[in-house]
Amino acid sequence: MDGGDRSDDPGCRGLRFPWDAPPAEGEATEVAEGVLWARLPLPMALDHVNVFFLRDGDGWAMVDTGFDTKRTRAILEGLMAGPLDGLPIVRVLVTHHHPDHVGLAGWLMERGAELLTTRTAWLMARMLTLDEQARPTPETLEFCRRYGMDAAVLAARAEERPFNFADIVAPLPVGFTRIKAGDRIDLGGRTWDVHTGDGHAAEHAVLYEVGGDLVLGGDQLLPGISPNLGLYPTEPGGDPVGDWMASCARLAPLAREDHLVLPGHKTPYTGLPARMRSLRENHVHALDRLHAHLAEAPRTGGECFAPLFKRPVNEKTYGLAFFEAAAHLNRLWLTGRASREDRGDGVWLWRAT
Ligand SMILES: [Zn+2]
Repeated sequence: MDGGDRSDDPGCRGLRFPWDAPPAEGEATEVAEGVLWARLPLPMALDHVNVFFLRDGDGWAMVDTGFDTKRTRAILEGLMAGPLDGLPIVRVLVTHHHPDHVGLAGWLMERGAELLTTRTAWLMARMLTLDEQARPTPETLEFCRRYGMDAAVLAARAEERPFNFADIVAPLPVGFTRIKAGDRIDLGGRTWDVHTGDGHAAEHAVLYEVGGDLVLGGDQLLPGISPNLGLYPTEPGGDPVGDWMASCARLAPLAREDHLVLPGHKTPYTGLPARMRSLRENHVHALDRLHAHLAEAPRTGGECFAPLFKRPVNEKTYGLAFFEAAAHLNRLWLTGRASREDRGDGVWLWRAT
């Protein structure tokens, strides 16, 4: 899952932010003709998600949705009655399956909206919403142990209800409209080329306006914070960092100076070509720092936060940091820059090679 995103990165060189203040709760800012920007609250360190509304036929197309909570429903109803002029949300584009983006999609579908997203996002969101767990699965606990989760943290987690999609994502009715890389679609009175990225979330949709300058960037193209790349028990042999690098290589040539990126968090910005470089370089440098950290001494995954995160990891950010450290260790291992061996108690010890 995505609880939010990792620490601020310095990669804002060359970026410009046309709006220095975000819209207040319940209000919307017009960022392009017929395109409104609003925010919904998140109960985490990263305390908001951006949503966008595009005038679409007899109503609005909404891009991403926030968590499903009483408070976000009330804010959205207020937006519909106010800035959206009482017109319905007829389509919802979900950029990726994370709960802060898909949370209210099912609720809007129940009210007649069409859901557009990628097949992977749809399958992941629906699977995870149905897969309710009262306690972490044995596979999850085994994964966390192997990757060196702090023993006290692990013991506490074993006895707690884990984060569940179902707690903050409305049930998703069957029946969605698939979008995929290479498609050209109409949405909100504009035409868009669909591309996809991976690493933060598999098959994350990124839409580039045809004959215009808007980009719907979701969490693939965030400014100011480096998107969280986590390795999870769902796919323990995965390579989210490698997937991220490949996506950056694929998407970088599409970036233009005059693109106005509408991102999933923080504020809309221009300067995408420079941003594409730092989105990749942040992780190249993180891998190098991690490699140097392992060259000093063999470490467990839980001992690898310092080279990856500028700020001390606390209880609130432990999970994000842990799964992100696992992703970077896997990348070093898969590219032959690190080896791992069982320490003797089922915990991997990682060494630089
Ligand atoms: Zn996300």
